[in-house]
Amino acid sequence: MKILVINCGSSSIKFKLFEMPEEKQIVEGVIEKIGEEISFFTLKKENEIRKEELKVKNHSECLEIIGKSLLETGVLKSLNEIKGVGHRVVHGGEGFDRSVVIDDFVIKRIEEYLDLAPLHNPHNLAGIKAAIKFFPESIQVAAFDTAFHTTIPEVAYIYGIPYEFYEKYKVRRYGFHGTSHRYVARRTAEIMGLGKYDINVVTCHLGNGCSITACKNGKSVDTSMGLTPLEGLLMGTRTGDIDPGVIFYLAEKEGISFDELNKIFNKKSGLLGISGLSNDFRNLMENIENPRVKLAIDIFCYRIKKYVGSYMAILGKVDAISFTAGIGENVPYVREKSLENLENFGIEIDKEKNEKMVGRKEGEISKDSSKIKVFVIPTNEELRIAFDTYQFVKNDE
Ligand code: ADP
Repeated sequence: MKILVINCGSSSIKFKLFEMPEEKQIVEGVIEKIGEEISFFTLKKENEIRKEELKVKNHSECLEIIGKSLLETGVLKSLNEIKGVGHRVVHGGEGFDRSVVIDDFVIKRIEEYLDLAPLHNPHNLAGIKAAIKFFPESIQVAAFDTAFHTTIPEVAYIYGIPYEFYEKYKVRRYGFHGTSHRYVARRTAEIMGLGKYDINVVTCHLGNGCSITACKNGKSVDTSMGLTPLEGLLMGTRTGDIDPGVIFYLAEKEGISFDELNKIFNKKSGLLGISGLSNDFRNLMENIENPRVKLAIDIFCYRIKKYVGSYMAILGKVDAISFTAGIGENVPYVREKSLENLENFGIEIDKEKNEKMVGRKEGEISKDSSKIKVFVIPTNEELRIAFDTYQFVKNDE
């Protein structure tokens, strides 16, 4: 059974086609710079890469192009072969604690959450509407980034502002990267031979966006991102935790609008803002002798350590810490630095194992004597979404 997974951003659509239940990826691709003078379409099938320059106005046109290319390249004989389309939806508010089949009610609820994730949800919704039009025979499924975190208790999700703002506007911590944290928590339990609800694990998703989650008995009980993905760890271009007073101070000093500050905090801060060089970790590691780059990396690791420590205190007993995503899977330096000198807390990194665990390898990087086990677990959010979608299609047959 063929399942298509799509992830719509403001100016790009990423997609992967899977054969399920074999969990085999058939093709993946991306259309970038949607709506600009020239858009770029890349399609990757095994080792073959096809690149094209196009002009694409919107998400609807993108799906048409993706569909055509799957037919032209012989990947599909008919679009009807796609039995399900899984969509990554960033914000599911308080309403969605799992993936759901998309119907009018679900679309209405996602529309209600547009304000909560203005940078993401409108594009996710545009992708859903385009897919319904273009693949009318397929079951459409939404997988929410927030769903895994709906188990977080009130004490961790209510902010210290007048309670009426929660009642009126649902201002609270939601958390993101849920599909990834859930997968990594489940996989860590599996590797350790524990039941999925028998593990206490801290999961660290370190990609362009970064977040860290405390899972108690396999369920999320706290996470570093908040109402929006801006809170928590230092990220590629986002600030992470910051005194809100900085916003008022800068608005006054620089005479800039909230809109501009929003852009600065989301797009020009974090590793990029501090280093003044890049948000790409490969680039930063190559320039680590530059003091500002070193400072950015040090702050990045310091923040991870601070969260790991606080989540250990919340969980009481911790079985494992797991790293995932671009940086978590590929940068031993970050893993070592952020967990160094924690031997008294039961964390001992094995330097040799750590150095070798790169390039989407899965395995343990702690010493045999380490009370808390440390793992690297490559994430695959699209495959998890494909799996959820497959389950709905199978149940429908
Ligand atoms: P996204 O959040 O967009 O899914 P990724 O999980 O792909 O992001 O992570 C992107 C980050 O991971 C970037 O900072 C990138 O530089 C870093 N990264 C990816 N591969 C490597 C590598 N081999 N070595 C160092 N950093 C890497």
